[in-house]
Amino acid sequence: MIDFSLSKEQLELQRRAREFAHQYMIPYAKYYDKTGEFPFPIMKRCWESGLMNLGIPKEYGGPGLGILEQCIVVEEMAAGCPGMTTSIYVNSLGAEPILVAGTDEQKEKYLRPLTEDLKFVSFACSEPYMGSDVAGIRTRAKKEGNGYVLNGSKFWITNAPYADYFTVFASLDPSKRHKALCAFIVDADTPGVRTGPPVEKMGHRASTTSSVIFKDAKVPAENLLGSEGMGFSIAMQTFSMTRPAIAAFSTGLARAAMEYARAYVDKREVFTKKLRKFDVIQFKLAEMYMKIEASRALYLKAAWTADKGENATVPASVAKAYATDAAMEVASEALQIHGGYGYIDQYPLEKLFRDAKLYQIYEGTSEIQRLILGRHVLDGYVPAMEKIPKWGSKKAPDF
Ligand SMILES: Cc1cc2nc3c(=O)[nH]c(=O)nc-3n(C[C@H](O)[C@H](O)[C@H](O)COP(=O)(O)OP(=O)(O)OC[C@H]3O[C@@H](n4cnc5c(N)ncnc54)[C@H](O)[C@@H]3O)c2cc1C
Repeated sequence: MIDFSLSKEQLELQRRAREFAHQYMIPYAKYYDKTGEFPFPIMKRCWESGLMNLGIPKEYGGPGLGILEQCIVVEEMAAGCPGMTTSIYVNSLGAEPILVAGTDEQKEKYLRPLTEDLKFVSFACSEPYMGSDVAGIRTRAKKEGNGYVLNGSKFWITNAPYADYFTVFASLDPSKRHKALCAFIVDADTPGVRTGPPVEKMGHRASTTSSVIFKDAKVPAENLLGSEGMGFSIAMQTFSMTRPAIAAFSTGLARAAMEYARAYVDKREVFTKKLRKFDVIQFKLAEMYMKIEASRALYLKAAWTADKGENATVPASVAKAYATDAAMEVASEALQIHGGYGYIDQYPLEKLFRDAKLYQIYEGTSEIQRLILGRHVLDGYVPAMEKIPKWGSKKAPDF
C-alpha cells in the first residue's frame, strides 16, 4: 500500500522546523537580505536547536536522519528564509561526500566535530571556468610524498569564508577528465588555502559565497575520499542525495509565496471587490497550489528512493527540475498578485522572486537535469511497450 502520511516523529520534526522558521527566520530575513551579512546568530540557534547536520549517523554523534526528514525540515526553513536555509543546509552538502565515500576514521575525525560544536563544511566543486561540466575540473592534485599538492581555484563556494574544512574535487590530469578526478577533505587552515571576498548576489543574500584558492596546499593521503579516480562518482552520488532537498527548498519557497498571496487577496480591493472574488486570481492560486503539491510529491519520492538505498539520480533530477521551475513561476505569480506592492520590499515577494532563481542554477542547472533525464528516457528507461504494437492496423473487432 502507498502511504502519503508522515509519521508522528516526522510531524514533530516538521513542527519544530516550522516554529524555528517563524521565530528565528521570518522576522530577521529582511535584515540579512539587505545587509548580506552572514546570519551567524541564526545558524548558532539552529545548531543549538538540533536542526542542523541531520544526516550525520548516530555512531558519529548525529541524529542519523534520512534524506526524507532532511527534506521535511528544509521545506519549512526555506519557507522562512531561503538564504539562511542555504547557509544551514550547506553543511549537509559538504558532509555528503564523506558519508558517501569516507572511511570510519574520516567520518570520526570530520563528522563528529560538526555535532559537538557549530562548525562549517563547504562543498568545493565549481570553478571559475567550470560549473556544469564536473569532469572539466582544472584544479590540480599532484601526488607528492605521502600526500597530494593542490593548485587551482574554486568559485561560488557557499559559506567558504567560515568553513572549518572543505570537501574538494581536483584532478590528477585534466586531460583524462572524469577518470582522473579525486575528492579530498581539506582543512581550511591548511597553508596555501585561502578564501576570496564574498561576492554580491541578487538573492540568497543571507548566504555567503566566495572563491577558494589553493596554492601548493599539501593534503595528506589519508584525506583522499575513496580512491584516486573516484571523485566524479562521489560528486554524482552526492548530488543524488542532495538534489531532493533542493526540490524541498523550492517547495517551501513556493508555499510561502502562495500563502503571502492568499493573505493579500483577502485584503486588497480592486474595482470595489476583494481580489479573492476574481476568477483570474483564483485560477492563479489554483495553479500555484497544483505546482506546490506536485513539487512536494516529487521530492518525497526522490527522498524515499534515496533512503531505500536505491539510485535516486533520476527521481532527484525530476524533482529538482520540476520544483525549481515551479518555485520560479509561483514566486512570479504571487508577486504579480501583489501588483506594485509585490515589486517593493514592503512585502517579501520581491525577495522570494530573487531567491527562487538560484534553485534553477546551483547543484546542477535546470538544463543539466534535463540532460540527465533525456539520456534516461533514451538509454535507461524501460518502456512499457517493449515492442510497439502496430497502430491502427485493425478494423472493428467482432468479439
Ligand atoms: C549563489 C551560488 C552558490 C553556489 N554554491 C556552490 C557551492 O557551495 N559549491 C559548488 O561547488 N558550487 C556552487 N555553486 C556553483 C553552481 O553549482 C554553478 O554555478 C552551476 O553548477 C552552473 O555552473 P556555471 O555557473 O559554471 O554555468 P555553466 O556550466 O557555464 O553553464 C552556463 C549555462 O549553460 C547551460 N549548459 C551547460 N552545459 C550545458 C549542456 N551540456 N547543454 C545545455 N546547456 C548547458 C547551463 O545550464 C547554464 O544555463 C553556487 C552558485 C551560486 C550562484
